Amino acid sequence: MTTITDIPAKYLVDPQLLLQDGTHLIGGTWVPAASGDTLEVRNPATQEAIARVPRGAKADVDAAVAAAAAAFPVWRDVHPSVRGQLLHRWADLCEQHAEELEVLENLENGRPRFLPGPIAPSIRYIAGLADKIQGSSLPTANLDQLALTLRDPFGPIAVIVPWNGPGWATPRRVVGPLVAGNTIVLKPAAEAPLTVLYLAKLAEEAGIPAGVINVVTGTGSEIGAPLVTHPGIKRVSFTGSTATGTRIMELAATHQIPAILELGGKSPQVVLADADLDLAIPHIVRGIVGNSGQACAAGSRVVVARELEADVVERLKAGLAKVTVGPWYEDPDMGPLMNEAQAERVLGYIAIGEQEGATLAFGGSRLTGGKYDDGAYVEPTMFTGVRPGMRIEQEEIFGPVLTVTSFDTEEEALEIANGTAYGLVSTVWTRDVGRAVHFARRIEAGLVSINTSLGSGGIGVPSGGFKASGYGRISAADSPLEWTQTKAVVFGKTYS
Ligand code: NAD
Repeated sequence: MTTITDIPAKYLVDPQLLLQDGTHLIGGTWVPAASGDTLEVRNPATQEAIARVPRGAKADVDAAVAAAAAAFPVWRDVHPSVRGQLLHRWADLCEQHAEELEVLENLENGRPRFLPGPIAPSIRYIAGLADKIQGSSLPTANLDQLALTLRDPFGPIAVIVPWNGPGWATPRRVVGPLVAGNTIVLKPAAEAPLTVLYLAKLAEEAGIPAGVINVVTGTGSEIGAPLVTHPGIKRVSFTGSTATGTRIMELAATHQIPAILELGGKSPQVVLADADLDLAIPHIVRGIVGNSGQACAAGSRVVVARELEADVVERLKAGLAKVTVGPWYEDPDMGPLMNEAQAERVLGYIAIGEQEGATLAFGGSRLTGGKYDDGAYVEPTMFTGVRPGMRIEQEEIFGPVLTVTSFDTEEEALEIANGTAYGLVSTVWTRDVGRAVHFARRIEAGLVSINTSLGSGGIGVPSGGFKASGYGRISAADSPLEWTQTKAVVFGKTYS
């Protein structure tokens, strides 16, 4: 087994020096779980235990919501530009500590490094909107009256994030509600809570008042229901699987609050007959091996013009063959899967693909021997001859598994691209601007990229899904408005 001494010192950050082991943040104080129970956090590349965090439950949720409710009037009533300044200071600290944030995420979810990370710029973009959230003046029948709208925050918001990219996902989801004057109870995934805890510590150091950001660690099954059904929670922001998102909506409905959902994907890479393959192929390979395919925006379905199919498959094989796989500190293209459960899931889908009659054209096995025995490594994998409707073509595998489906006509390409329950992101590869526009208008997805990588867009680009990929948008200039409620105010003379 790899031990911590095998890891080059430049990649070592001891989580215990950054965080107080066994505590989470409630009302500005780092405290253990009310029960005293803890959960172990493991490094997917070495299986070593790297930290312990509180195993929170209802009592912790109650305390965190009470803290968020107590902090709400202060945060709501402070001048918006002060909120913006504090969030900018948080961004500055995230930039100064980018290395620690990156290594914590590498340690807890095994992802290879991608510094410089997008955390600070994504906070700054939204922080700059703090003093630009405004209502409007309204027409009145009576000229001696004036009517206008105010944008009020809601109060404490529950923000639930997944394990697959806590450093990138979390600030983008909390900064919108915060800038609008709401307070937060954050629930990271039990598997990857350290980056989120460290982000909260930096927010505290930035001077964001106690209780504005609270973090409760623990499992979804133990914290989820008490948090989402808590009467003090006024809105929910959930990022995770479509199945859990559906459950979150049911729970939120018990006290009539909505949930903004950012869910799974099965995103198409549409390769039209005139595509520039030299450009497309490296992007397609990166789009499925990035984060070991454990990405909501993974470009997992290649939808290719039949005349290009053989060429594309050969080029993809060559591209996948060059992918390096290993622990993050070797700077590989692809790291391990998160854990054994993920490996079972991915290998299970590979078996399903073979049973369904697709051709396993590349990979398909677990990597073993040496460093690979320390983590759950599965080869980059590609199925060809995949027919629309096969489970491997329809369901989110959440691993490095690419499917290739061919089409004869462009209408068929659109049907296949739109033919799953999901609609998160998509890419179209074509040299023809007319075709690009045709597809951009018709693809059912929150983001259509033309001749560029999939992904959740960039800073300022709205991010969110169509269909079973969820609803609501984050990251864009109008996103903070999702976290406000419109209040109309009418005043002036009344004539009897
Ligand atoms: P998950 O749904 O299992 O868990 C997500 C979060 O919900 C975790 O914090 C988990 O502890 C919590 N949770 C689980 N059960 C809960 C319950 N009953 N009540 C409340 N919270 C509960 O998802 P995951 O496996 O952590 O993440 C992978 C999924 O997330 C994939 O489907 C991926 O596509 C999706 N995702 C989507 C986006 C996006 O922006 N659309 C981004 C990242 C990941």
